[in-house]
Amino acid sequence: MTSGGDAPGMNGAVRAVVRMSIFMGCEAYAIYEGYEGLVQGGSLIKQMHWDDVRGYLSEGGTLIGTARCKAFMERPGRLQGAKHMVMAGIDALVICGGDGSLTGADKFRKEWPGLLDELVAKKELTAEQKRTYQHLNIVGLVGSIDNDMSSTDATIGCYSSLARICEAIDCIDATAESHQRAFVIEVMGRHCGWLALMAGVSTSADFIFIPEKPPSENWEAEMCSIIRRHREMGKRKTIVIVAEGAHDLALGKVTPTRVKDLLSNDLKLDTRITTLGHVQRGGRPCAYDRMLSTLQGVEAVRAVLNATPDTPSPVICVIENKIVRKPLLKAVEDTLEVAKAIEAKDFSRAMHLRDAE
Ligand code: ATP
Repeated sequence: MTSGGDAPGMNGAVRAVVRMSIFMGCEAYAIYEGYEGLVQGGSLIKQMHWDDVRGYLSEGGTLIGTARCKAFMERPGRLQGAKHMVMAGIDALVICGGDGSLTGADKFRKEWPGLLDELVAKKELTAEQKRTYQHLNIVGLVGSIDNDMSSTDATIGCYSSLARICEAIDCIDATAESHQRAFVIEVMGRHCGWLALMAGVSTSADFIFIPEKPPSENWEAEMCSIIRRHREMGKRKTIVIVAEGAHDLALGKVTPTRVKDLLSNDLKLDTRITTLGHVQRGGRPCAYDRMLSTLQGVEAVRAVLNATPDTPSPVICVIENKIVRKPLLKAVEDTLEVAKAIEAKDFSRAMHLRDAE
């Protein structure tokens, strides 16, 4: 299943899980439209054969669909999900999504025995079915362009998104340089400044705003002085990158419009704002995401086959170029801690937690 926001590389994960499962002698099923597919069942749960995922590796988005599913947030929705899984003969779920999707999966596993009891009591499942499917294995893969998950160096999709942002900024650079203009570019990332920071490093931006590091008290004068110096050194263009989370959470008054006004009024630069938006999500996955999703999908199936009833649900990570398993719940909890620290404007804690990652 793919769930939450789509990310380039999700299809590679689906392909790897399907083919590794078949290779290991298992049957593979795709749950279409995220948790919605589990709740609704029927044609949204479909057995997948080797050929069904041909061509998936290079496709953007997620071909099996994704959704935000309110019904799965409530127990009755999860009860329906459990029934549909057992009826389809599924005893393990590999889910590629963000922290919300993985939290939901962990909750589902914890509730699983109680859900089966309830379904037997309602005569929707037999006692025999309950015995056969008494253990549910869950394995997480992190699919997100934001690279915001603790415990892993890279989420599936983040390098494709970064590459797309860099391409877009290269395009903007050409026109900015021609007219000696300044551009304020807003990039995605929610609570996480990774995309903005890495895009800034990769395109030699003049100034970057990220949620994790608030600007100094006199950021306006500081930014103008740096940009003025760059111009005096002969730079014909100016690029300022603002992470979407920066102005919402940490910085209060720093918005692309505020930055534009400063550049226009104080530095007299002809300044435009570009919000890159959903172009950052779409398109073909880069080579790294194809490789990462394939290696992690293979490892996810291994983790399913090695699991015991007592094994905590793992999430498949990449740390210093090695594919490793980490406890899923801890990864989600650590991720939420960072977001909470940023919301509480406790930036030293947020930086400390990110460093610890
Ligand atoms: P992204 O990082 O792209 O937003 P995400 O996986 O965090 O991805 P969410 O919208 O938070 O995206 O979650 C996706 C779906 O997972 C939800 O619509 C819901 O169906 C399920 N889900 C999320 N949190 C929970 C939860 N606490 N309990 C049960 N289900 C949940």
